[in-house]
Amino acid sequence: MKSLKFQETLSCPNGCEPFEADRWSFINAAQNPELKDAVLGGELNLFCCPQCNTFFHGDTDLIYLDEQAGLLVFVFSDKNRANKDELLKKMEHDYAQLKDTLFKQMNLDFGPICVFGLEELKEVVRKEQERTDESEAIAAAAAALGLKVARLHPRWAREHDSPLYVAAGADNTASGYALAARKVLESGLQSPLLAHFAKVMEGGGAQAPEVL
Ligand SMILES: [Zn+2]
Repeated sequence: MKSLKFQETLSCPNGCEPFEADRWSFINAAQNPELKDAVLGGELNLFCCPQCNTFFHGDTDLIYLDEQAGLLVFVFSDKNRANKDELLKKMEHDYAQLKDTLFKQMNLDFGPICVFGLEELKEVVRKEQERTDESEAIAAAAAALGLKVARLHPRWAREHDSPLYVAAGADNTASGYALAARKVLESGLQSPLLAHFAKVMEGGGAQAPEVL
């Protein structure tokens, strides 16, 4: 599934003559990592008006998919923030359709999240990148201790503010995971995500995490 861009008529904020340009409307980050970089750098759908040379963002709807991070983001125009309830309904409807068409070949087992504007998308992608980087350090620290590494479901990890990788417990119970997480933390690794995960696993009635 390739990323998609379409030619559109754009108008700069200074009210110059409209012009034609290609605007990305679907981003598959796994296939086009350079577009993920463009999101992080603020260059995605950034246009320059040919008349007044003003740079501006094409602020219209787009979909961002990063299968590895378990991330599907519907980005709505910043102008439509007031219509959030209506747009959430539209998102669920569109998502149900996309699952039967565009995403049919993929095994998406995570639901979409909704943001407004490219700044908010950048923030979500940046946070996921940080989670990935910190998770890799956790996996390395666990392996250095001779512990097995478990890969958590990205959706579960995001919902529980947890890393993508943790040390696997001796058994598949929450307390087993908590013990293994403490071992890694005691080795000197600084990881707020793992510390939070340990607390979640130590909580009363905690369930073991969803693993892949
Ligand atoms: Zn202009």
